[in-house]
Amino acid sequence: MEQQATPQSVRPQVLDSRLRGTKFVTLQPRSVLNSPAQTGMDYWSINPYVGCEFGCSYCYARYAHRYVVERAHDAGKLTDAEFAEYRGTHGWEAFENRIFVKEQILGALESDLRRFFKAPAALVIGTATDPYQPAERRFRLTRAVLERLGKYEGLSVGIITKSPLIARDRDVLLRLQSRNDLQIHVSLITTDAKLARKLEARSPIPAARLRALKQLVDAGVNAGLIVAPVLPGITDGVAHLDALFAAARRAGAQFVHAGALRLYPAVRDRFLPILAEHFPTLLPRYERAYARHAGAPRDYARALSRRVNKLQRKHGFGVNDGMVDRYRVKRPPAQGELELRGSLL
Ligand code: SF4
Repeated sequence: MEQQATPQSVRPQVLDSRLRGTKFVTLQPRSVLNSPAQTGMDYWSINPYVGCEFGCSYCYARYAHRYVVERAHDAGKLTDAEFAEYRGTHGWEAFENRIFVKEQILGALESDLRRFFKAPAALVIGTATDPYQPAERRFRLTRAVLERLGKYEGLSVGIITKSPLIARDRDVLLRLQSRNDLQIHVSLITTDAKLARKLEARSPIPAARLRALKQLVDAGVNAGLIVAPVLPGITDGVAHLDALFAAARRAGAQFVHAGALRLYPAVRDRFLPILAEHFPTLLPRYERAYARHAGAPRDYARALSRRVNKLQRKHGFGVNDGMVDRYRVKRPPAQGELELRGSLL
């Protein structure tokens, strides 16, 4: 069926593309702040991009990309051909190579701030995509958002990222921190670069993330490590976690927290084939353990929590000091804050 023509200004436009086929496409939402009522979290959130080139196999945020594409198609902003392209054959790959850029984010943010937002409030940047993914190098939307938020006082701001690009913005972060609480969560699940590459298609190498963490801390920014998801049977060994916590300590991390994988339906399609390829003996065990719930089994969660707390003490970090406590999260918002449940392995 032929779709009605829509004005060129609201139709997604391709801003840039890469040789490997990634396209950066405009997205012009009227509103960019997600309220606690919308998400069920205890804090506000904002994501300057939809989709993420880092392509972590365990990333649960693919659902958000799919939602944006389906909504744009339903609203007549995408033709059937564009819908097929931006949705991708399996759904998950478009999340990694069709990146939506909220180009006019500042206008929408101003309007949201005027209409809804009152400090003091908690706001987390990067709950559904990485705010410092490669697109940020060119489009600088996250930096613009931070500069705007720097005019506030009394906010509690959290940023989650795997990218060393965040160190570029030390000046803005320090300004923001001078009038607000700020916590940077550098995300890293392993110090083993080869293992990271098996699990995260295009993420920055672990050493680069640790260097960025050190740069932030050395500059006086409150930053620590988020180890999530911990993958049962792959990254949950004492020696493995101990190496990560020790690396965090060497980088000057102010805190470390960790949580186990949650295997949402949107994650299964991407993660289980990777598991089958690299850790085939674990596949049936994951399928059993996560058969009924997205969360890891309860006994496993408790055991991992004890292990993490022990390592936090050993390396001089606060116990249970992290996003869950800080923002009083009722439900974890991202792969970064996963809770542990149950006996898996
Ligand atoms: S886990 Fe984070 S960095 Fe990895 S693909 Fe998802 S949003 Fe990007």
